Amino acid sequence: MGSTNSDPFLKNIPSIKFTKLFINGEFVESVSGQTFETIDPRSGDVIARVAEGDKQDIDLAVQAARHAFDSGPWPRMSGYARGRIMMKLADLIEENVEELAALDSIDAGKLFSWGKAFDIPNVATMLRYYAGAADKIHGDVLKMSQELQGYTLHEPIGVVGHIIPWNFPSTMFFVKVSPALAAGCTMVVKPAEQTPLSALYYAHLAKLAGVPDGVINVVTGYGPTAGAALASHMDVDKISFTGSTEVGRLIMQAAAASNLKHVSLELGGKSPLLIFDDADVDKAVDLALLGILFNKGEVCVASSRVYVQEGIYDEFVKKLKEKTKEWVVGDPFDPTSRLGPQVDKQQFDKILTYIQHGKREGATLITGGKSIGENGYYLQPTVFTDVKEDMLIAKDEIFGPVLSLMKFKTIEEAIKRANYTRYGLAAGIVTKDLNVANTVSRSIRAGTIWINCYFAFENDCPFGGYKMSGFGKDMGLDGIYKYLHVKSVVTPIYNSPW
Ligand code: ADP
Repeated sequence: MGSTNSDPFLKNIPSIKFTKLFINGEFVESVSGQTFETIDPRSGDVIARVAEGDKQDIDLAVQAARHAFDSGPWPRMSGYARGRIMMKLADLIEENVEELAALDSIDAGKLFSWGKAFDIPNVATMLRYYAGAADKIHGDVLKMSQELQGYTLHEPIGVVGHIIPWNFPSTMFFVKVSPALAAGCTMVVKPAEQTPLSALYYAHLAKLAGVPDGVINVVTGYGPTAGAALASHMDVDKISFTGSTEVGRLIMQAAAASNLKHVSLELGGKSPLLIFDDADVDKAVDLALLGILFNKGEVCVASSRVYVQEGIYDEFVKKLKEKTKEWVVGDPFDPTSRLGPQVDKQQFDKILTYIQHGKREGATLITGGKSIGENGYYLQPTVFTDVKEDMLIAKDEIFGPVLSLMKFKTIEEAIKRANYTRYGLAAGIVTKDLNVANTVSRSIRAGTIWINCYFAFENDCPFGGYKMSGFGKDMGLDGIYKYLHVKSVVTPIYNSPW
């Protein structure tokens, strides 16, 4: 199975070591014995069959996490001791960078060179960031009255369900798992069905690092079965979800209808990039292309709406069309590729349908628009001009390499149009004028604003949306608080009337 002998990158393809569910420190078959195929988007071939977890498996995993939380060492050990184990896990990840990057490349079509240089090394640094925070979690001393004194304790929230998407399988795993570990929680991770492989590898490394049994459980399987069972489980204290706005709504409903578990949602986006007349046009073009083509547009913060001020619009369009050619589509293991294949046939078809909508609605296709080759899910980088805000391509999250380009006259108009969306995940501004940058960054209702840069993420920078892009922050110290309860402890003072 997997890549054929004609695969020119056969040497890069790792053997698949882990395909079973990871529950209570062991790899196990699913209760039903069912498996599902995980597909190589470079070819559409099957890479491996993976255990298909369902409600019964979620029950077992939650039971293990519950036991580890209620009676196990993890929430009870010092933050420092937890941090030491997390540091060890980070080291093990660094020792296996190539294999982990390759797993995400065959499973998700992600560029191997990027995975090796960024995605995988960055999850090690993320673990270390939160490992360093694990022994710095503390509450406050409260002033209260002359009769009472009080303080707050920050306690781990309990058993957490992490439901994660396929576009950054490794990053998403650790964006969720690292702060929850630092907080002292135990957890069940439900990776996306498209990309189960690296999550299982991380479960194995966590065990090697000394994470106690039951603290991290991984149940691979589908959303409406395994995911839904986790979201509606009576013994799960919190769901941390990243994915589509539609499924985010289902998660909240399931949480409300079950035990009112806490929910945080990192959902879709349709992020605007605003480019003003004083911008360096070459730099602005590079940022716009990076913003939409990085990770083949499968990024929740992709700059899928680019607004260019009229003074530089024509020059911008000409240069953008030219520079799009530098974004070579090809095998994710080929070092000359800058875009790999879309993750699966469903996404590939969905993107092509949006491109048809764009044409039908009257937008002008200036480059791209087609699929590439007979095998796999490769698409040309695609740019539309003459886009109007009420067209589907300007409103919906396409999650592919499709850019909508629009022209504006004034700063007020740009702000109004940028905010004309149900989403509010991120936005970008390109200008040399500090007043413009400050005005726009305070006027756009989005969780992250990048000025003269894009995709500038760091571990200490909180990330999360406004509006229908969700709520609750990942990353940064804010990323830990959602895994903590605040408990108030109050006691009378000596000689008080109590
Ligand atoms: P995308 O559109 O990016 O594939 P989804 O929101 O469909 O994102 O999927 C993100 C995660 O949510 C995946 O792990 C998926 O299996 C899971 N999921 C999908 N449907 C449900 C559901 N009804 N309940 C819980 N989880 C779900």
